[in-house]
Amino acid sequence: MATRFNWRVVAWRRRIVRTSTCLFAAIFAAGLQAAENISVLGNKPRWNVLEHYQQTITRDEFAHLVNDVYGTHGFAPDLIEIKNDAARILMNRDARQFFTLRFAASDSSRKSVPRLWRTAKSLSPSKEEKPLSGLKIALDPGHLGGKWAKMEERWFQVDQGKPVQEGDLTLRVARLLATRLRDLGAKVSFVRSTDEPTTGKRPDDFRELARKILIKNGVPQPRADILDPADPEKEHTIRWQSEILFYRYSEIRRRAALVNFKLHPDLVICLHFNAEGWGDPNNPSLTDINHLHLLVNGSYMAQELEFDDERFEMIRRLLSRAYKEELPLADTIAAAMARETVLPPYAYPTTNSTTKVGASGYVYARNLLATRLYRCPVVYCEPYVMNSKDVLARIQAGDYEGTRNINGVERKSIFREYADSVADGLVDYYSKAHGSGD
Ligand SMILES: [Zn+2]
Repeated sequence: MATRFNWRVVAWRRRIVRTSTCLFAAIFAAGLQAAENISVLGNKPRWNVLEHYQQTITRDEFAHLVNDVYGTHGFAPDLIEIKNDAARILMNRDARQFFTLRFAASDSSRKSVPRLWRTAKSLSPSKEEKPLSGLKIALDPGHLGGKWAKMEERWFQVDQGKPVQEGDLTLRVARLLATRLRDLGAKVSFVRSTDEPTTGKRPDDFRELARKILIKNGVPQPRADILDPADPEKEHTIRWQSEILFYRYSEIRRRAALVNFKLHPDLVICLHFNAEGWGDPNNPSLTDINHLHLLVNGSYMAQELEFDDERFEMIRRLLSRAYKEELPLADTIAAAMARETVLPPYAYPTTNSTTKVGASGYVYARNLLATRLYRCPVVYCEPYVMNSKDVLARIQAGDYEGTRNINGVERKSIFREYADSVADGLVDYYSKAHGSGD
């Protein structure tokens, strides 16, 4: 389940790890002469890094990626201005500072794109029995699970059944998937390998920031604590805000540092399970709805592009051409997952923050923290509605070999079906693309 963060919405809603709301920014700007507009816990952009991308992209390709992938919801005209031979990108509005990105005159004259990850085409051809040989894959099991699952609101329990904790389910899939991928020749690392946080911070470290955020957003005297889990005002408390700053913002930013500075993978696979609104976690509503979709980075909202750091990270990602690799990869994995899970594609109820991309019908572009910050191709998987009756029965059955009869159908364990379908998608993609030249 990916999560959308909007602290003002008190009722339960579908959650996607959206990176920011415009509500946060001004706090960090106070007292600076040329106010920097940075998203929550964001890093100051290093615009000079973009100098390495001078003349690495043509005007046509740049315009296509801005218009059809990253800026699909429009944005203020001064943020990115595409001229004939260069793009003018706003660095700081108060200071009226711009970065000039010079285009390559043509595809044949463009300079090579600097990057640490390797495209499928640039990997050397592999033997048939080891189609992923040499490929560096990092697995990112979503959320934390364990004792953190209730805090993360990734926990529910039906009657006396085993509690369902998304962070535990994703780690289980990651372990099975790692074994399969290593057998196929890949070098596999984990962005998270236990149910302990990657970040060294804890909610108490964010109490002061949480208080400032609440005051800034019209809660002049925020309460310290939540009264009970059903407290309708819980999102206006310092506790709730400081917890989300810990388990979402701080945790995912720490994972990004791990991916970018230590693991250096060729791609990251983010593993999640989806859900429909379940209401009371102790008495959750169950559904017959079940579906699958995958996400790649893109589809930034206009207010997200106002943040100097998000705009910078978007441009850096665009210039790295991660999209050129992650879109066909996501499409191929989606096709394998659809084939093996027999799940229909998920349809977002609105198009405010997503854009359907690719050819499979299962892939959307969306600006999530992980898909934006991990500096390599990222495929974010969202199969299975955890509180659908069918999926719940399969989760309760646990992991097993072979098949078992579940609700009248012979089924693989849901964990193996998930892991196998992702692995098969990777094999499909890399067997075709491997070593075919760049
Ligand atoms: Zn999730």
